[in-house]
Amino acid sequence: MPQSNSWGFPRWGGYGKDSEAVTVQLCEWEGCTEKGDCPAPKFRDSKERYWFCQEHAGEYNRSWNYFSGMTEEEAKKAAEKEEAYARNFRDGNTWQFADISLTKEERERRTALKVLDLDEHASQAEIKESFRTLAKQHHPDTNPGDEAAEERFKSVCAAYEILKT
Ligand SMILES: [Zn+2]
Repeated sequence: MPQSNSWGFPRWGGYGKDSEAVTVQLCEWEGCTEKGDCPAPKFRDSKERYWFCQEHAGEYNRSWNYFSGMTEEEAKKAAEKEEAYARNFRDGNTWQFADISLTKEERERRTALKVLDLDEHASQAEIKESFRTLAKQHHPDTNPGDEAAEERFKSVCAAYEILKT
């Protein structure tokens, strides 16, 4: 398990020959010097994450008792919730899947894709196409006085701002 005193204090790599900081996150597993590029939630429903190398992320996940510290009733509820998530996931209903392992950027991107009626595998061409169609459809000029359309138009533009790069 990770050292408790490393919580919240990611270790960073050393400095390069030219004294520029090497922005490489190291695996936070005690004694490991591999690159840590696998995020793992620090505790249940946490947005804070450890960064581990692949091997240690796997080990951490295996040893992590999801239900520890819960009463039997809570554990049962959590298990039901997990089951519902898993069902949604199997049914391709990924929007309802828990996003605890996503970064803020990833969550924003998913939300933006949802606004444009696209799934997470949408190509840039599809994003552009959907933006054009929806922007046209909800444009204030074609919906004078329609506040709902205006709101939708703004959302569509904001979503495209996030997705266009
Ligand atoms: Zn490691």
